[in-house]
Amino acid sequence: MRITEIITGATPSLSFEVFPPKTNDKYESVAGAVREIAKLNPSFMSVTYGAGGGTSEYTAKIAEEVKSYGVTSLAHLSCISSNKELVKTQIHKLKGLGIENILALRGDIPDWLDKNNLQYHYAYELIDDIKSATDFCVGGACYPECHPESESAEKDLEYLKIKVDHGCEFLTTQMFFDNDIFFRFVDRARKVGIEVPIIAGIMPITSFSQLDRIRAISGNEIPKSFLKVMEKYMDNPVAFKQMGIEYATEQARKIYENGFSAVHIYSMNKPEVASQIQNGLKDIIK
Ligand code: FAD
Repeated sequence: MRITEIITGATPSLSFEVFPPKTNDKYESVAGAVREIAKLNPSFMSVTYGAGGGTSEYTAKIAEEVKSYGVTSLAHLSCISSNKELVKTQIHKLKGLGIENILALRGDIPDWLDKNNLQYHYAYELIDDIKSATDFCVGGACYPECHPESESAEKDLEYLKIKVDHGCEFLTTQMFFDNDIFFRFVDRARKVGIEVPIIAGIMPITSFSQLDRIRAISGNEIPKSFLKVMEKYMDNPVAFKQMGIEYATEQARKIYENGFSAVHIYSMNKPEVASQIQNGLKDIIK
């Protein structure tokens, strides 16, 4: 099924993200987590591609596993450190596996990349290639707190509009911890003529070390009240995890209550986290 059909359907959607293993010896444990999350029968599952320095080798295979459990699969694909030939191969591979949806990304720019010989510079160029090759449903990323490389939030939106005009049919947000930031971003996006559905991406923070990592890489604003609660539980990992799950569940609940129908959880291959969030929202997602 196409993601756009799912997220514009009559029932609110709740989806989960998984990431593929970096090495073959981790394949079975990742595949096990994917199977457990798929058993929850989410609206769809996304599978990242080479994010955080990982490999891209297993994305298609994990996306195929997701599909084999009867769950719609969204395969991520990034382009900045790739080339036209590799992209073409990956598109055909996904097509051959019956995957219908791709999240088209530029990817972060690695230090080693020779910027003079790039075949791709921005995600919209990848969208062009996917769209001209096949009839995939193509989505893209967006940043309620602005992409870190952007000179301004206005410019970031201007470029986002270009990405949408190149055929991006839905957007998934970067994580955010203050819903007002998301609501304001959607308003601004609508004002510049971005009309495609926007899926709210929610990251449950389940350990104090995860919070440190997020602060170091994302520049997300974290509400003072949330920081205070996290500090309270920093010496109690079990209670911390529970608090993180509850915060994410409440964030999602308020997003639905404000009239949005699609939430995507960065569930980080953790079935118990995905399951508790889904359970906490069962009165909404039915
Ligand atoms: P783009 O949309 O190309 O934007 C990148 C930057 O260039 C922005 O600053 C933008 O304002 C600017 N820009 C865009 N178009 C133009 C233009 N026409 N002219 C000038 N400037 C322009 N990374 C992975 O490696 N694998 C993943 O699986 C992955 N999944 C992700 C999923 C989500 C939901 C999100 C939010 C991010 C994900 N990322 C992933 C991270 C992403 O690859 C990085 O954030 C990357 O730095 C930007 O990718 P993009 O597709 O948003 O880029």
